[in-house]
Amino acid sequence: MYDASSFHDNPRRDSQQVGRLEVICGSMFSGKTEELLRRLRRAKFAKQQVEIFKPAMDTRYSAAEVVSHDRNTILSTPVEHSSNILLLSSEAEVVGIDEAQFFDQGLVEVCLQLADQGTRVIVAGLDMDFKRNPFGPIPALCAVADDVTKVHAICVECGRLANYSHRLVENDKQVLLGETEEYRPLCRRCYLQATGKHR
Ligand code: ZN
Repeated sequence: MYDASSFHDNPRRDSQQVGRLEVICGSMFSGKTEELLRRLRRAKFAKQQVEIFKPAMDTRYSAAEVVSHDRNTILSTPVEHSSNILLLSSEAEVVGIDEAQFFDQGLVEVCLQLADQGTRVIVAGLDMDFKRNPFGPIPALCAVADDVTKVHAICVECGRLANYSHRLVENDKQVLLGETEEYRPLCRRCYLQATGKHR
């Protein structure tokens, strides 16, 4: 288990704030959004100016909110392109970005620029797609981040920690929105079994 409570949440604000980039990644149902919202809520308690963005294409529940699966909501701004985040976050001390795997690669430079300017940037996203390929800008963000938290779901077959989002429907597209029915979290062993990739 990870312990994210210790140093991520220090709300101290200096006159010369030092920026940082945090990445929360993992499979579906691993609690990425919950962890993002937990950190953002604490920043709000500390009276920091918080802005939240998500890709405009992620319209699963609502156009204007970051919604986690337990419906713990914080209002967010849907944006079409990563460059919009720079324009919209000039006042923010803390910037949260959800479903970051769906953004363009420009998100990496945007996050670096924000952190270099003194902003705390917290990015949440899928580390891998259903084929276990690194997803969108997430791998590059992990490389340049100050801190990476990898969260895990529970394998629905055996109860071990799950790393993979196994897709239940026949469809080869990388992006398929609308998760609960189409995916289930599996551990390595059960994933190999389910996909016929026994070694
Ligand atoms: Zn399993």
